[in-house]
Amino acid sequence: MSATPAAGTASPRPAQAEAAAPNADAAEIAKFQALAARWWDPNSEFRPLHAINPLRLGWIERLAGGLAGRRAIDVGCGGGILAEAMARQGASVTGIDLADKALKVAELHGLESGVNVDYRKISAEAMAETAPEGFDIVTCMEMLEHVPDPASTVAACARMVKPGGWVFVSTLNRNPKSFLFAIIGAEYVLNLLPRGTHEFAKFIRPSELVTAARRAGLEQQAMIGLTYNPLTREYRLVDGDVSVNYLVAFRRPA
Ligand code: SAH
Repeated sequence: MSATPAAGTASPRPAQAEAAAPNADAAEIAKFQALAARWWDPNSEFRPLHAINPLRLGWIERLAGGLAGRRAIDVGCGGGILAEAMARQGASVTGIDLADKALKVAELHGLESGVNVDYRKISAEAMAETAPEGFDIVTCMEMLEHVPDPASTVAACARMVKPGGWVFVSTLNRNPKSFLFAIIGAEYVLNLLPRGTHEFAKFIRPSELVTAARRAGLEQQAMIGLTYNPLTREYRLVDGDVSVNYLVAFRRPA
């Protein structure tokens, strides 16, 4: 659970320092910290993120009309899988997260691959204060379902984007099928993800996400599902099936 900021008191343990961000769950951040070293191992816990990356990158590029020369921010960037890929396509990318070990891994990987991304440990809400209307493209992928108050994160994304700019969000739907596929299937049967990666109650229905975005002044442009075939071990973007994993594209009116 998120802790209120301890004004003026030194945090005795790093986990508590991380919890000092108002809209963050220290236990969630700790999970990603613990796995950080394996972020770029394509056969690790992060295999699904590597596998879906070309799909989501292509979807973003098609809708936004390319990335070259655009200013993008990846909120909850982790080890930088999407942030780096956007930078490779010519965007000027900032990546923010609260898991500093993941950010270190991201930075080192960027040095190795020669792709420059500006990684910063800062919350979405604080970044929105620092850089209002600062970006053409805001991405927030597979992160909202780990946050105590996702509407606050969505509102921060809406503040960061320029008028006319794009906000891309992906998360997990909340219904019996998503429980079966995303938790039982992925964590217990297929072992795609470590057990305990996801908490069903934190999953977000598309209607809830769209409502939060609308309240923040964003307009929905497109929504698409992401499905996994365990036989071929392939992911696909599918129109019309947002029952488990899904992505939504929003725009801030110009
Ligand atoms: N967006 C990346 C990583 C997804 S994993 C991708 O799709 O490839 C989820 C990430 O969200 C982790 O890096 C975790 O540290 C981060 N995260 C969780 N809660 C957060 C919060 N409150 N603020 C910022 N980042 C958070």
